[in-house]
Amino acid sequence: MSEHRTALIWDPAVTAYQFRPDHPFNPKRLELTVSLIEAMGLAGGERTPIVAPRQATDAELLRVHSPEYIDAVKRFSAPGADVSDAWRWGLGTDDTPVFPGMHEVTSLVCGGSIRAAELVMGGEVTRAFNLCGGLHHAHRDRGSGFCVYSDLAAAIAWIREAHGARVMYLDYDAHHGDGVQGIFYQDPEVLTLSIHESGRYLFPGTGFVDELGDGEGYGYSLNLPLDPFTEDGSWTSIQAKLIPEAAEAFRPDVIVLQNGCDGHMLDPLTHLRASTRLYEETVRVVCETADRLCGGRVVATGGGGYAVWSVVPRAWTLVWAGLSGQQAPDAIPREWLDRWQGESPELLPERLRDPEGAYPPVPRRDEIEATNRRTFESLRRQAYPLLRGWGLGF
Ligand SMILES: [Zn+2]
Repeated sequence: MSEHRTALIWDPAVTAYQFRPDHPFNPKRLELTVSLIEAMGLAGGERTPIVAPRQATDAELLRVHSPEYIDAVKRFSAPGADVSDAWRWGLGTDDTPVFPGMHEVTSLVCGGSIRAAELVMGGEVTRAFNLCGGLHHAHRDRGSGFCVYSDLAAAIAWIREAHGARVMYLDYDAHHGDGVQGIFYQDPEVLTLSIHESGRYLFPGTGFVDELGDGEGYGYSLNLPLDPFTEDGSWTSIQAKLIPEAAEAFRPDVIVLQNGCDGHMLDPLTHLRASTRLYEETVRVVCETADRLCGGRVVATGGGGYAVWSVVPRAWTLVWAGLSGQQAPDAIPREWLDRWQGESPELLPERLRDPEGAYPPVPRRDEIEATNRRTFESLRRQAYPLLRGWGLGF
């Protein structure tokens, strides 16, 4: 057990963030994860408190969203609302439909990430994990990709406003973190780094190496697009260099970490092929970097993850264990399996970690690794001269 305190932000009320019963963004994954963390005895103690989120205020939302957009979301939130103009705001689509109470529950998700930031920046805990957060596709004046309001941007803006701290935002969800990048694209006090499946093959179609920021924020937006079928060996070896290199150049006061787990091999919406090792390794590198550079401070969220039964609870239990400095045993408790197996459409894995060689090898693996290395070198060539320039005033 480390000397850090780590808070798990949780209230079952956040499971009301549900678009439709058959929508892939299924809140059941939150309930499964928290029950697994609890069954393993990994939360609830003095060093690992469970803390309820609070509602984000309008003023907190207005830091990152336009008043017109917030008004529209409030209007669509009422039961029986006229939603004929919802498309103007990126809502009412098949991906991001309108649902009653959407303003209230998305504000609670945002308030959860702000609460996590308050606890970390106030020194009450070193790290916090708001697993229902991570809505990285929400833009200033439009919803997108299952995201209504940006809890991530709201938490980062709160940190900037309340503490004037420099924030490094790190996102390794399989999809590009376009919403957060866009909101801080001109801001040199917020470094965004997104590692994702290439936009050539996957929503939202952005996140290329040459998206480096704009104006004063030029050089403070980094993107590493990975080839489809990338495995965690290639992924983690690049991250192990990129994350500390970028952090050492930027010198953040806090790291905000989006832990979308849809890059896992079993995820139905993407083409990446990570195992659970990715989540343990990434959190280890991020926590080591934070310990060295910013007092250990990490504000973490969930994100994507659509293998609701077989992946999300395991990946995020590993994320939580890593953040809170606990060694999670590998065997999933029998009581958890017994509780959920009847409801699960598939056989639940009995091990927290995917065993070595659990998945069939990828054809053309060497070519994929070589492409990723070339992309990383291209990012280094384009972005690192800018990063080095930060401290030198040019
Ligand atoms: Zn995603």
